[in-house]
Amino acid sequence: MSIADRLKDKTLYRTASFIDGAWVTGEGARPVHNPSTNEVIAEIGDVGADGARAAIAAASKAFADWKRVSPFERSKLLMKWHQLILENASDLAMLITLEMGKTFREAQGEVVYGASFIEWSAEEAKRIHGETMHPPFPNSRGWTTHQPVGVVACITPWNFPNAMITRKCAPALAAGCTMVLKPAPETPLSALALAELAKRAGIPDGVFNVICGDAQALGPVMTGAPEVKMIGFTGSTAVGKLLMRQAADGVKRVALELGGNAPFIVMDDADVEAAADGVIASKFRVSGQTCVSANRIIAQSGIADRLIAALEARVSALKPGDGFDASTDLGPLIHHQAVDRVDALVRNARESGARIVTGGKPLVDTLGGSFYAPTLIEGGSPSMDMACFEIFGPVASIYRADSEADILRLANDTPYGLAAYVYTRDVNRVYRITEGLDYGMIGVNAPMVGSASTPFGGMKESGIGREGGKWGVEEFSELKYVLLGNLTA
Ligand code: NAP
Repeated sequence: MSIADRLKDKTLYRTASFIDGAWVTGEGARPVHNPSTNEVIAEIGDVGADGARAAIAAASKAFADWKRVSPFERSKLLMKWHQLILENASDLAMLITLEMGKTFREAQGEVVYGASFIEWSAEEAKRIHGETMHPPFPNSRGWTTHQPVGVVACITPWNFPNAMITRKCAPALAAGCTMVLKPAPETPLSALALAELAKRAGIPDGVFNVICGDAQALGPVMTGAPEVKMIGFTGSTAVGKLLMRQAADGVKRVALELGGNAPFIVMDDADVEAAADGVIASKFRVSGQTCVSANRIIAQSGIADRLIAALEARVSALKPGDGFDASTDLGPLIHHQAVDRVDALVRNARESGARIVTGGKPLVDTLGGSFYAPTLIEGGSPSMDMACFEIFGPVASIYRADSEADILRLANDTPYGLAAYVYTRDVNRVYRITEGLDYGMIGVNAPMVGSASTPFGGMKESGIGREGGKWGVEEFSELKYVLLGNLTA
C-alpha cells in the first residue's frame, strides 16, 4: 500500500515545497526513510538557493498585507487552521510515525501539543497591545505599540516534526509576521501537510512557505537576505552558533532553541517510586530523542540504590519496536548513525568504569539497524562523554552525590541550561535548589515542562528567547515607542 493510501485524506501526502501558495517540485529526489523499516516513503526535490529567494520574496510581498490584517481576522484564520489540524490529527500522527519513528501514541500527543500552540497564539493575537506612559516632559504623553518583526526564516529539527514548526509559526503569524520554513530533511512530510492545511484554512499565499533542500545552500540565503528580519532555529547548539554568526552581519534578531544536558535530581526525601516513573517519562519519551530528556540522573546517596532497583525493573520491561505496534513503548532512533553514536557513548561509559545494569547494545539482529536497547547505567564518571554531551537515545545514566552543594555543582557543570528536574518533598529544598540551578525550565516533582501557555527555552548555550505563552508572541514583535509632546493643556 502506498503511503498516501494509508491516509484518510490522501492530499495530505505532499512531496513538493510550498512557495507563495503553490507546490514547487525542485530538482533531484532526496529519499525520506521510515526509520523503523528503512523503507523509502517519499522523495523530495531540492528548491535550491533560487527557491529560497523566491520564498523570501513571496513572504516579503505577503507581509505588506498580512501585517495590516486585523488581529481578529488573523486569529480566526489561525483558529480555522487549528480546527483542521485536529480534524486530521490521525493522518498527521501517521505521517510523524512514518517519517520519524516515534510511537503512534506519542505522535498523536505531538499533534495535539502542536495544535495547542496555534490555538493559544490565535487567542493571543487579539491581546497584543501596548501601554501609555507619562514621560518627564511637560504636556506630553507616550505610548508603545508592538509591531510585527517582518519576514522570519525558520529552521527546524526532526525530533518533533509537527510541534517544533507550530511552536514557531503560530506566534509569528499571530504577531503579523510571515514565514519561510526549512524543515529537517528526515521529516519534511509533516511540515508539508501543515502547509496544505494552512492553505485550506485560508491563510493567504506567501504568509507561510515551506522550502526543502540542501541546508548548505538554503541556510546562507535565509540568514543573509535583507528582507529577512529574524532567524528562528531549533536544533543543535553547533548549528545554532553558526546561524547566529551568519545573522550577525545583518544584525537580525535570533530566537534559538538549542541542545540540552538535563540533570534529573532525586533527593533523599523524594518519593522514589514517583521519581522512577518520572525518569522513565522524561528519559525514554521519543526513545530519549528530546532536548529536555533527562541526560544525567543525579541520585542523593541515601536513595541511590533504591532508585537504581526501581529503574532496573522499569527499564528492563520497556518494549522497543515499530511505532504502529500498540504494544511498543519505544520506537527506533532516527537512523543507524544515531544508533552508532549512542553505542559509542555507552562503550566510553563502560571504559570509564560504569556498570551496565540493563541493555547496553544495538538491536540490529532482532529489530534492525535503527533500534537500541533501553539501557540503564550506573557508576560512571561525571566527566565521561555521555555526561558531557546529549545522549539523544534510550540510555539512562545515574550519578551519585551527597550534599546539596555537590548536587548543585554537578548539575550546573555543563555549558547547557535548558531543562532540569528535581524530586523532593521539602519545600525549603525546592526553593534552594530551583534558585541555584542555571536552567531555563525546572520541573519539580514533574517530568515534563512544555505547554502552550508557559515559557520554553534555555539559558547559557541552550539558546536565546522563549517559545510559548505571551513570551512566544513577544519574540516576533518589535516594541515601538511614540512621544507626543507640546500638547495644549
Ligand atoms: P541539527 O543537526 O542542528 O539540525 C537542525 C536543523 O538545522 C535541520 O533542519 C538541519 O538541516 C539544519 N541545518 C544543519 N546545518 C545547517 C546549516 N549549516 N545551515 C542551515 N541549516 C542547517 O539538529 P538535529 O540533529 O536535527 O536535532 C537535534 C538537536 O535539536 C538536539 O541538539 C536537540 O537538543 C535540539 N532540539 C532543541 C529543542 C529546543 O527546544 N531547545 C527542541 C528539539 C530539538 P540538515 O539536516 O539538512 O542539515
